[in-house]
Amino acid sequence: MLEIRHLDVHYRGIQALRGVDLSVKKGEIFALIGPNGAGKSSLVNALSGIVPSVGEIRFEGELLGRRSAHLRSREGIIQVPEGRRVIAPLTVAENLELGRQAAGVRGCDAADLDRVHVLFPVLKDRRNQLSGSLSGGQQQMLAIGRALMGRPKLLMLDEPSLGLAPVIVKDVFRALVQLNREGMTILLVEQNARLALQTAHCAAVLEQGRVVHQGSAADLAHDPVIADHYFGRAGLIA
Ligand code: ATP
Repeated sequence: MLEIRHLDVHYRGIQALRGVDLSVKKGEIFALIGPNGAGKSSLVNALSGIVPSVGEIRFEGELLGRRSAHLRSREGIIQVPEGRRVIAPLTVAENLELGRQAAGVRGCDAADLDRVHVLFPVLKDRRNQLSGSLSGGQQQMLAIGRALMGRPKLLMLDEPSLGLAPVIVKDVFRALVQLNREGMTILLVEQNARLALQTAHCAAVLEQGRVVHQGSAADLAHDPVIADHYFGRAGLIA
């Protein structure tokens, strides 16, 4: 579904990605792990077209080139941003509607909203509540729901566990697994390496803008070097 070759991202004076090669297959959960500043967000932002990049990105066989973020979202590359970024003064229902409009989905299909409400029933209960008054976990669910309203083919999530209580993280990840079972391809950026590798089929480790390991999530989870580097942190879920 996604082929990335020799991808570089530069900010002013800083090279965030250095010749990244990655492949994500249709129907899989692919996890991207690595320390702070490794370039994980830069990669996801380059894929969604929010930051410019140099190199090749092919989505379903087609080169994305300089296609805008707007066009990429219409083609089904949809991101749940780091920090959720729900529109606080709008209601839950309005935020979901924005997700549909932003991705150019025409007409209101009740099935899209039903799917979000089945996945996250709290969003149905609170549909008329202002989003800014939701808990962090509920806002994360809303951010995922908003992305789903755009009918993603590739759903990309940037640190969905950030700042959430472990019990909520479990709910969010259970929902991601459920979506994947229904056929959704997912690219997951996650600092919680153990959780990411437990959830994903395949994974890559980024360090200083380069892919330093890539393979099946199970193999990476059993690699002693990765365990040494990434499984010692506080807050990991067994
Ligand atoms: P984190 O887990 O802390 O979010 P990350 O792996 O997602 O880290 P990036 O946010 O992609 O890493 O950052 C990669 C590098 O690019 C870092 O050195 C960071 O400081 C730099 N960087 C990221 N965004 C910008 C920006 N808008 N302008 C300048 N430098 C940036």
